[in-house]
Amino acid sequence: MRIVTKSEDMQRLSIEYKRQGKTVGFVPTMGYLHEGHTSLINIAHKYADVVVVSIFVNPIQFGPSEDYDRYPRDIERDKEILEKMGVDVMFYPSVDDMYPKGFTTYVEVKGLSDKLCGRYRPGHFRGVTTVVAKLFNIVMPDVAVFGEKDAQQAIIIKRMVRDLNFPVKIIVGPTVREPDGLAMSSRNEYLTEEERKVAPAIYQSLLLAKGLVEQGERDTSKIIAAMQEFLSKYDRIKVEYIEIVDKEELNPIERLEKGEALIAIAAYLGKARLIDNISVKVGGDNG
Ligand code: AMP
Repeated sequence: MRIVTKSEDMQRLSIEYKRQGKTVGFVPTMGYLHEGHTSLINIAHKYADVVVVSIFVNPIQFGPSEDYDRYPRDIERDKEILEKMGVDVMFYPSVDDMYPKGFTTYVEVKGLSDKLCGRYRPGHFRGVTTVVAKLFNIVMPDVAVFGEKDAQQAIIIKRMVRDLNFPVKIIVGPTVREPDGLAMSSRNEYLTEEERKVAPAIYQSLLLAKGLVEQGERDTSKIIAAMQEFLSKYDRIKVEYIEIVDKEELNPIERLEKGEALIAIAAYLGKARLIDNISVKVGGDNG
């Protein structure tokens, strides 16, 4: 596996792959890899000849009081995992390489970036879209893979790609969970033993919601109230938001009609801010 730390070198390497007629698959990450990440790498391998994984904890997507400094990092372990997976290139740039002195250009997907998590993390998605646009220009992937776990992020990136004509196909991989249902996340590392025990309740509340939809409930305020009531049994879980939205504009839905909706939750468990979501599909008039 090649380890590339300079954007210029990465760009040159990608141009060379293209010259050789190879397709490039790309999985951007912030490292501290888990099976959620590796599932996306497996998908990238299926779609492309060469797989590039970036490891970059992107400072501009963290708010001033957020966890940039203490975000878990273990580059040696990440390197071993990527090597074992047959990844071709690990792109591991420095903050100075990505944001040189005088950096002042940002990419913003208006509207979508202010919804759901965006309401509580101002500037977060602007940081995400800016870094992903930069990474796309550096890695020049044919295919890039993102996780459904960060559903809003995937929707925003798809919109950016469409709006700015990035020549890349976006693939969204399913959320990988621990055996007890907790969505895998580098931030699960923050959980104490006690917090870890109750953390699966977040996913259970989503399953409860899905069950209600399957039983015919269409009033989203009732579904959200049931989730809140279920989670209120867990003192340690502090819900930030629960919303049921459409999957294009991320606007709240009052009554579920035919089509797909996203049920999204963010909650604090001690120091960890955890997010999760589930999609629900309503069939016809009676489905
Ligand atoms: P991160 O390192 O947290 O920025 O995540 C990098 C990529 O992995 C993003 O596309 C995430 O959506 C995806 N990802 C993170 N956790 C999971 C998971 N549990 N299942 C699937 N994809 C995930």
